[in-house]
Amino acid sequence: EGVDTVIVGRPNVGKSTLMNVLSGVERSIVTHIPGTTRDVVEETVRLGDVVLRLADTAGLHETDDPVEAIGVEKARGRLETAGLVLAVFDASQNLEEEDRCLLKKLDGRPAVAVINKTDLTPCIDEAFVRRHVPYVVTISAKQEMGMEQLREAVCDVL
Ligand code: GDP
Ligand code: MG
Repeated sequence: EGVDTVIVGRPNVGKSTLMNVLSGVERSIVTHIPGTTRDVVEETVRLGDVVLRLADTAGLHETDDPVEAIGVEKARGRLETAGLVLAVFDASQNLEEEDRCLLKKLDGRPAVAVINKTDLTPCIDEAFVRRHVPYVVTISAKQEMGMEQLREAVCDVL
């Protein structure tokens, strides 16, 4: 039961923090060290009227570490097949090549662009994000801000 939903994005953008806020339990390890989430962590959550089967994934990036690479491959696989994509970006940073690559893959897909860390000084090119994904929400997962808008966006997309 539930919509197959993947949480993806570069390392350290706050995917695991978001996963934990949505699931209400400390399921995923949150750390400032990139590459901590290696396996896919799953949790079923109810968001308003919809049930999501959330999958938190390893950060999308190039890596020479073979163990990390397996996690990244799993993340890319989940991204291909998911019924809903929550693509997470860091508001305090410029978009990187990996972010732009991800955005291009989202054209025409059921997806919400989640711009996280809005408690920090904004830097991200939000207009670029909006060109690819019509549903954009700005949140601070750490401060649990913007969760209601995220819920509404998810309901609109599905
Ligand atoms: P992941 O690698 O994408 O899973 O990122 P994590 O969830 O592990 O978070 C990476 C770092 O960013 C941690 O130090 C978090 O506490 C921090 N972080 C997550 N969300 C926010 C946020 O909304 N604001 C700020 N300032 N930091 C955040
Ligand atoms: Mg993580």
